[in-house]
Amino acid sequence: MKTQKTIGITKSIALVAHDRKKTELIKWTYLHKEKLMHHRLIATETTGKLIEEQIHIKTKKVMSGPLGGDQQLGAMISQGKIDIIIFFWDPMATQPHDSDVKALLRLGVVWNIPMACDTATADFLITSPFMTEKYIAEHGCYKNYLDRIIDK
Ligand code: PGA
Repeated sequence: MKTQKTIGITKSIALVAHDRKKTELIKWTYLHKEKLMHHRLIATETTGKLIEEQIHIKTKKVMSGPLGGDQQLGAMISQGKIDIIIFFWDPMATQPHDSDVKALLRLGVVWNIPMACDTATADFLITSPFMTEKYIAEHGCYKNYLDRIIDK
């Protein structure tokens, strides 16, 4: 059984980039500024600050990733408050908050959130016709899991 979530025309988009990927994300937000302006942007602190300073679009900021921001975004995903994730993580560097990075990626899949981790995928995502219409996203129904019998 599946559960549905309606994603409205205005999307809540999470933006996160690791340090060596920040320039790439800033360039991407610059290229797609016109489109992004029509949505609610949520970013980890440093990423959000750079977007605001360099691209001049407002973002709602959570903590910096290593200080809990990735987990804050994960909680927002579970609460249905994030519709799309643009997460340029660095595949060539180890991160102090590696477990948080994995948790964020995992929750994105648990809740069937469109997620781009590189510019090509992000380009496809932002230019999708679904960006300007409502979209019904189906995700797994976790009722059986919640109702599972726990051995005593
Ligand atoms: P930052 O966090 O935008 O505050 O640098 C990103 C991250 O490393 O998860």
